[in-house]
Amino acid sequence: QQPQIILLKEGTDTSQGKAQLLSNINSVTAVGDVVRTTLGPRGMDKLIHDDKGSVTISNDGATIMKLLDIVHPAAKILVDIAKSQDSEVGDGTTTVVLLAAEFLKEAKPFVEDGVHSQNLIRSYRTASTLAIEKVKELAVSIEGKSVEEKKGLLAKCAATTLSSKLIGGEKEFFATMVVDAVMAIGDDDRLNLIGIKKVPGGNMRDSFLVDGVAFKKTFSYAGFEQQPKKFLNPKILLLNIELELKSEKENAEIRLSDPSQYQSIVDAEWNIIYDKLDKCVESGAKVVLSRLAIGDLATQYFADRDIFCAGRVAEEDLNRVAAAAGGTVQTSVNNIIPEVLGTCEIFEEKQVGGERFNIFSGCPSGRTATIVLRGGADQFIEEAERSLHDAIMIVRRAVKNSTVVPGGGAIDMEISKYLRQHSRTIAGKSQLFINSYAKALEVIPRQLCDNAGFDATDVLNKLRQKHAMQSGEGASYGVDINTGGIADSFANFVWEPAVVKINAINAATEAACLILSVDETVKNPKSESAQGDAAAGAMGRGRGGGRGRGMRRR
Ligand code: ADP
Ligand code: MG
Repeated sequence: QQPQIILLKEGTDTSQGKAQLLSNINSVTAVGDVVRTTLGPRGMDKLIHDDKGSVTISNDGATIMKLLDIVHPAAKILVDIAKSQDSEVGDGTTTVVLLAAEFLKEAKPFVEDGVHSQNLIRSYRTASTLAIEKVKELAVSIEGKSVEEKKGLLAKCAATTLSSKLIGGEKEFFATMVVDAVMAIGDDDRLNLIGIKKVPGGNMRDSFLVDGVAFKKTFSYAGFEQQPKKFLNPKILLLNIELELKSEKENAEIRLSDPSQYQSIVDAEWNIIYDKLDKCVESGAKVVLSRLAIGDLATQYFADRDIFCAGRVAEEDLNRVAAAAGGTVQTSVNNIIPEVLGTCEIFEEKQVGGERFNIFSGCPSGRTATIVLRGGADQFIEEAERSLHDAIMIVRRAVKNSTVVPGGGAIDMEISKYLRQHSRTIAGKSQLFINSYAKALEVIPRQLCDNAGFDATDVLNKLRQKHAMQSGEGASYGVDINTGGIADSFANFVWEPAVVKINAINAATEAACLILSVDETVKNPKSESAQGDAAAGAMGRGRGGGRGRGMRRR
């Protein structure tokens, strides 16, 4: 009798083969089903709350995927592709999850029939390459237009992104705002140069754009009422020091032998702070900002000299003022040279809703913009911020590589048609696989219809017919979200940057192939030693990052 070979520790949980593959596909499809209803302008939102009681309402695929606490190792891959789509291009996160799920759904019957998954993977990869080439070929450049014209076109792209969101009703209003904001920062790469400030209350339409920096004032000390609230062309001093008596108190240890010396110590303390304040005043600055506290002594002192000050400014805001106004943050008040002072055309402190805002507009380096968002509930403003983030990313993408494709499922139908045609030229099983891939792409227009309550079969038949036209004039026809029929997406300005589609197809195919290539998942049992425990945890979880044993093989 052969001795039994013990390979894995007792209690190790393995499942393998076809059953494992099918179970992975099922779980991924289930995740796809969760997000599918959020796609498009008529998509629904998800309300997610956790045990800490925080509530999020979102339509954004990446946000939803992040908040869903997915435990299935294979399904976690979808979370990762949604995240990567979000960081790469910023939009199309629902699309990418949906496509990946659909690719796998189409692959399922083949797997059940015993097709080796490597065959599927190879065909899928080929199909994806062909699809991306086709997208590039169909993309239309908006380069070489005048600035005004370009702005209009970019606003169209932003509006398409926003139309699927909670603030879709005001998409033109926000689209223009987003384009202005992106134009204001030019081709600078740093996203944080566009600030979004949320002020609950008021109406969405009360939101406004500052061509500079705006931030909420956190603290107001006595004396602040007497400070002027508006300056034209002020010098701005940026500090990272505390202007308060208390700091001196805490930082020193003093031993006195004679009680009469006490007064001199107190005086010295006052002298130190007055010396600091004098130096600030001497610098000629009219606006003094500090990341740390500016106490009431300093506030009053500045007020007496017609200087505005604000303490406890968030670091991010201070840096944005520095970038916009052209100053440098100082950690000492000694030797303040004029070069480190910033300036702007108008500085103003204004009441916005229940908050006081410091607003710096007309900044010389001009490379910042701030959107002040108004609106009802907190969840609403937060979702509005996420939506604007998507729109900002899209406009920036479009500025960088300015090619667009028709949305509303038009491009997906066109690629699908192209792949079907191409598949007919291939002999062998691969023909079927590429055909399935092509069919999977139709999920986008189908879902757009489903979510809007249209008859998807009917609309898709019309679309197929249009796209099959020899002349090619039907190539940009997509779902008409307003009437339930079909319409020329290009003519209706439902545009998406080509990179959104390219990245989505790429990432979704990769994810699908990754899952198809897994034939075994191993869950390691908990080890007795604490050290082993951590390691086992990392292995067993088999994160999408590919740390788990099962995920590794490709
Ligand atoms: P994602 O997270 O993938 O960006 P969205 O919910 O934003 O998902 O939906 C995007 C889809 O909605 C795209 O396929 C886009 O073409 C489509 N879409 C957006 N606006 C319209 C519109 N006005 N008419 C038809 N389709 C639209
Ligand atoms: Mg979107």
